[in-house]
Amino acid sequence: MITISNLKKIIIGLRNTTKFAIILVIAVVLIVGIIKVSYKQTYSVSLNGEIIGYTQDKVNLQKRINDYINSGDGDNIAFVEVKDMPEYKACLLKNGMQTNDDEIFEKVTSSGTTYYKYYAITEDNEEKAYVKEFTDAESAINQLKDKKSTNSEKLGIVEKYSTTQAEYKTVDTCVSELYKEKKVVVAQKIPSGGPTGPSVKTDLGVSLVKPISGVISSRFGVRWRDNHKGLDIAAPKGTAIKASAAGTVTFAGYGSSTNGYSGYGNVVVVKSSSSVVILYAHCSALYVKTGQKVSQGQVIGAVGSTGISTGNHLHFEIRYNGRAVNPQNYLY
Ligand SMILES: [Zn+2]
Repeated sequence: MITISNLKKIIIGLRNTTKFAIILVIAVVLIVGIIKVSYKQTYSVSLNGEIIGYTQDKVNLQKRINDYINSGDGDNIAFVEVKDMPEYKACLLKNGMQTNDDEIFEKVTSSGTTYYKYYAITEDNEEKAYVKEFTDAESAINQLKDKKSTNSEKLGIVEKYSTTQAEYKTVDTCVSELYKEKKVVVAQKIPSGGPTGPSVKTDLGVSLVKPISGVISSRFGVRWRDNHKGLDIAAPKGTAIKASAAGTVTFAGYGSSTNGYSGYGNVVVVKSSSSVVILYAHCSALYVKTGQKVSQGQVIGAVGSTGISTGNHLHFEIRYNGRAVNPQNYLY
């Protein structure tokens, strides 16, 4: 039986060192208890040596960051390059002080560079169109092959990584933009020097802009009794005529049988490449001289009705290797 007097005897019987040890243990338990109640176990999070916050769950926080790096939070993101990764250090945080996982996540990821992944359809190694998925590129190329597009052997797919998004196209748009028809041999006999059939579209290799805006009053091609070698665009007298393409003025003046531009009235002839010559006829005024260089869009003359003409209009004629081609294959 343990009685109080027995206990006293036991305590008295203990040596001083043992008593001290017991007091020490009680003290430690008390201190740990106090710490447990008023502090919580956390991790300080630092970025570049600077503390940016505290977390109680470093595993989860780091997982969130890793997930973001691996796939971002948007469409077709390849990965996100984050400059610096956070460092974690165990520490005690006073109860009531807030941890801020969301803020830390924001700080770490906001410095990131997003890399997008998409695919370029190439023709002759030149990037022509962009799609989001490899299968889109593949299916566009297969469709072009099925349609026997003349460029189908030169098409390829390149995987792109870029910090900027491209303008993504649908499979259908890619197919219609990249499709190149086999040149149709027109059965109709074309008089030498005369216009080619309207269905033949030659690649001029020159970029064109509209010389004026207005109403088409006469189309290119066969007209009563003659072949119309240009496109007539009706517009008020004085309307500014812009150079459709840059080039050198080979003739600017009144057309006659002597200079070979009989009936054209005041005409500007611009050589835009070794193959392409563009004529602007029936002008009321000319603003350029023979031999002068003109840039695309530069005003070179004004609409009129000089020469053989029945009203104010621009006769716009494009010649490719000496033969008139249909301007409406390129403009209007
Ligand atoms: Zn005409």
